[in-house]
Amino acid sequence: MIYPWQEAAWDQLQQMRVRLPHAILFYGPAGIGKADFLEAFAQALLCENVRPDGRACGTCASCGWFAQGNHPDYRRVRPEALEDEVPTAEGDDAAAGDGDKKSKSSKTASKDIKIEQVRALADFMNISTHRQGLRVVVLYPAEALNMPASNALLKTLEEPPPGTVFLLASNGLDRLLPTILSRCRKFALPTPDHSSALAWLQAQGVNDADGWLREQGGAPLAALAQAENGSREELDTLLQILAQPSIDSALRAADKLSKAPLANLVAWQQRWLYDVFSYKLSGTIRYYPRYQRELAALAGRVSTPGLMRAIKSANERRAVADHPLSPKLFVEDMLLDYTACCS
Ligand SMILES: [Zn+2]
Repeated sequence: MIYPWQEAAWDQLQQMRVRLPHAILFYGPAGIGKADFLEAFAQALLCENVRPDGRACGTCASCGWFAQGNHPDYRRVRPEALEDEVPTAEGDDAAAGDGDKKSKSSKTASKDIKIEQVRALADFMNISTHRQGLRVVVLYPAEALNMPASNALLKTLEEPPPGTVFLLASNGLDRLLPTILSRCRKFALPTPDHSSALAWLQAQGVNDADGWLREQGGAPLAALAQAENGSREELDTLLQILAQPSIDSALRAADKLSKAPLANLVAWQQRWLYDVFSYKLSGTIRYYPRYQRELAALAGRVSTPGLMRAIKSANERRAVADHPLSPKLFVEDMLLDYTACCS
């Protein structure tokens, strides 16, 4: 499925099908629907009866296998942790009957794409395709590849097996190895403008769509996921500390917050700092209007050099959020650093 804001990108992509690169890296902010776009394209590449607009027919044998999640010429590689999150037909089946086991395992599920997952592709690529067609590998988010896995993938991209197409997605090209980047054709996917994202979210039946959308930096799928989750608990825990920073509260909250995706925490903090800065300059708030009082108070007392240091430090921290040595230490460090700059 592709989203309304992806139509133009879809049409543009069709021109690449004439001479298909062996690896395409799709990029854009988190939560704009990249994974669904990739899977729609993968299905279309495998479809035996493609429609004139390049979309999969949805009725051929290949589309049937794809929908059931067992197409022999297709592999999807993503971190274990994501396998539990995204509801798919196969996921629902797997969840039936062992809900307890599943929720337990998701606590320790890896957020990395590991070398074993990349190595497992070798067998897949060494056998001939079932329909003498393409073999398609979808891999996301590419920044979840840890170093050994990146290197293993790199070898494959250097000597691409014939008839195989890699479709990768990334939330930030600056978080990938330059050698991986150089071997992929880059393809930007757009963030929708605020009004179309808002219209789409409202059509999904989300209440307070504007609030959720702002807090997620305009990314509609991220906003939908948060709204369905129905909880701002982690976000509010973080924002309350950022509003009243102290060493004490930083250390107390670190354990709880370290369960949240760290890249999200950093993104929330970056948006918060943006709002403080914006309030200081012009009295406007972009992301967190709910916190107007706290933002105004903080903007009044924090020094501009302190604020600049906090922004720089948050930007640097984002680069390491994908593979921290210890999530708890990562969060402690992030909050203590902020406290030193902004209290
Ligand atoms: Zn089809």
